[in-house]
Amino acid sequence: MPSASPLPEDGARSLTLLYRGPLASCDYDCPYCPFAKRRDSPEQLRSDRAALERFTGWAAGRAGTGDTLSLLFTPWGEGLVRSWYRRALVELSRLPHVRRVAIQTNLSCRTGWLAEADLDTLALWVTFHPGQVTHERFLAKCQELDALGVRYSVGVVGQPEHLAEARRLRAELPEGVYLWVNAAEGLGYTDAEAAQWAAVDPHFGYSRHAHPSAGLPCRTGESVLSVDGDGTVRRCHFVRDVLGNLYDGSYRAQLLPRACPLPVCDCHIGYVHLETLPLYELFGAGVLERVPHG
Ligand code: SF4
Ligand code: SF4
Repeated sequence: MPSASPLPEDGARSLTLLYRGPLASCDYDCPYCPFAKRRDSPEQLRSDRAALERFTGWAAGRAGTGDTLSLLFTPWGEGLVRSWYRRALVELSRLPHVRRVAIQTNLSCRTGWLAEADLDTLALWVTFHPGQVTHERFLAKCQELDALGVRYSVGVVGQPEHLAEARRLRAELPEGVYLWVNAAEGLGYTDAEAAQWAAVDPHFGYSRHAHPSAGLPCRTGESVLSVDGDGTVRRCHFVRDVLGNLYDGSYRAQLLPRACPLPVCDCHIGYVHLETLPLYELFGAGVLERVPHG
């Protein structure tokens, strides 16, 4: 009789998971916020916490299977003002089979808790929201990250009224901290305007236009997956077809090379995985937190 193997039938995998639970509240109120914000009720917060803890438990349970995990939290709202996101990041960062754990955040939280994390593994994708926080306060938070030795990128939405703030921040951040600019949704840029933004972010060209993606090979659905609070697995946050569930293992048999079914991909967390773009080369191990290689 064959002995039971601790490995899944299809062998060990190196998986990148983008987790987005039910949390939808934020302590900021940006006029350009792409998310339908709400005030989470105590019950909704409890559900979000339970869902995150389930996901964290699943990730911890992959120890010994041969899987390695790279994890990015992409909440609809702000996660780091909630204790369970801070705890999850610290705990996950200490697991040997977790290569990277990162979260998209407005950095409004305190920073001292980061000292408990393994900072070779934890990283932050930080967005500066002028109008919600003063320049001085935000810069001071970045300096706290520098003092702690936290790996992070900083970005702004490329609204015309943010240009002066973005230039000032670029001048004041350490040279080694990448400042990215996301093209504002629905806004076209003349070449002259795009050049002004590219002077702040040399890679702005990737964000300026949506990327035609129909039929092109994309790593999502094979090595990159999106997971929601129930464990529903999709290839990415934009294609709604369900591949299976994380917790019953049904997603596993669906990990295949796939072409993109949508006409365009216009969000960095999606097109960064398009095989036809050189962004894995550009970002290397910093692909999740948007920190360019070297
Ligand atoms: S910080 Fe992010 S989630 Fe919060 S309001 Fe601003 S854009 Fe929306
Ligand atoms: S190209 Fe974008 S929309 Fe298409 S599958 Fe990849 S991440 Fe999803």
